[in-house]
Amino acid sequence: MSTSGEDTIVALATPAGESAIALLRASGPLCQKILQEQLIDRSINPRRATLTGYRNVRGVVVDEVVCTFYESGASYTGEEVLEISCHGNPLIVQLIYEDLLARGCRAAEPGEFTRSAFLNGRIDLSQAEAVMDLIRARSERDLEVARRQLNGDVGCAINILVDKLLCIIADIEVYIDFPEEDLPDEDSQGPIRSLSRLGGDFDRLIATSHYRELLHDGVRTVITGAPNAGKSSLLNRLLGEERVIVSSEPGTTRDFVEERVMMGPFLIRLVDTAGLHEAGSELERRSMAKTLEQLRAAELVLLVVDTTVAAPTLPVEAAGVLDTTQVLVVENKVDREDSVAMQRFRGTDAHFRVSAVAGGGVPALRDGIRRSLENGVVVPHEEQVVVGVRHARALEDAKSQIKKALGLLREASSEELAASELQGALESMGRITGRVDNEMMLDRLFEQFCIGK
Ligand code: GDP
Repeated sequence: MSTSGEDTIVALATPAGESAIALLRASGPLCQKILQEQLIDRSINPRRATLTGYRNVRGVVVDEVVCTFYESGASYTGEEVLEISCHGNPLIVQLIYEDLLARGCRAAEPGEFTRSAFLNGRIDLSQAEAVMDLIRARSERDLEVARRQLNGDVGCAINILVDKLLCIIADIEVYIDFPEEDLPDEDSQGPIRSLSRLGGDFDRLIATSHYRELLHDGVRTVITGAPNAGKSSLLNRLLGEERVIVSSEPGTTRDFVEERVMMGPFLIRLVDTAGLHEAGSELERRSMAKTLEQLRAAELVLLVVDTTVAAPTLPVEAAGVLDTTQVLVVENKVDREDSVAMQRFRGTDAHFRVSAVAGGGVPALRDGIRRSLENGVVVPHEEQVVVGVRHARALEDAKSQIKKALGLLREASSEELAASELQGALESMGRITGRVDNEMMLDRLFEQFCIGK
């Protein structure tokens, strides 16, 4: 892709189709001139919305539009930017778009506006990615994480690690530069200790990438229990009371059904499994194995117990798996006269008494799920910096270079080699915020954006 700078790029920034308003955006050196040609007897006021007729190259007014001009250095991309809001008729959009091309603009590639912002130093690469994350976020907490990244929090966290690493490299350089100096032994241990501590900082940051998946794809919440306990009824009840944002998505087999639903600021993936019971036939064994697989992968389990059954039990394998997961016990069918309290069923877990059919107790259960997510280990707290998968990969590369350097320092074999490993680690970290000149990597990253962003 040729980088802009000399070109003026243009794209529709709002979705295609009929709408109240459509917004076309241009970025590059032609913007001011294009606006000038629309205005009669008026000077350009940067950042001020101006109502004007849009006149095409032939002087015909195509539509009444609102134009906003941003000077170079004070715009999203860092170049001159012109935003034109017209009536949301695809024909009007087409006429203005074609006119802008006729005036010398070229069609923008996906993500090219954000790419320019990055290349012009307006934002770092992690902030550029955050723009896409912000557009695609599926839950409030997911939005918050993207917002913080756009704010530069990931870049900040990385820069802190970079500074620490630079200090350690400086310490090691002392040994390289003054090998004849007899430095006390505890001084030579200094970089080793600092590097091991730094390794821990890396691990903590790398671990947060797991949250990204949870926040974006949903926290896997598996509904389980004996056949007929009311698992499907509970799933329907939870879906019915909440906004389903992804349509029904049956599992790969008929063994489970999966739905995504908002639970407060979180998105959860509710998985309804086949009933837990002692497996007899081969088919039942297979279905049980699938359920256990789901339970092992679960972040949270809703164990539905039928309170009208005198002594409900769990198959041994299931009980074993549940011992290591966060479980909420849902005592169901409390509307029935023959319902009895089951507090002693898995006594250590939180209990909720509900009627999946009549709806009683379900709001309290929803609050309980939300509280478990807030307090449990599965989601990040509000202030936490969460890195993306690409960042985690770069951090892992840097971490393995730090480990190699540590090995070399411990063996006291070569400070030079250790320092060079650490320089490599710095380069790996540079990939996160974008100290890169790899065009292919940038192409791959920005092609995931939509056109107009
Ligand atoms: P699953 O096999 O665990 O998915 O259970 P279902 O959701 O299919 O429910 C089994 C039966 O129990 C159905 O006839 C439901 O109508 C009934 N049932 C489920 N929940 C309740 C409840 O809260 N109260 C009553 N009275 N019946 C329920």
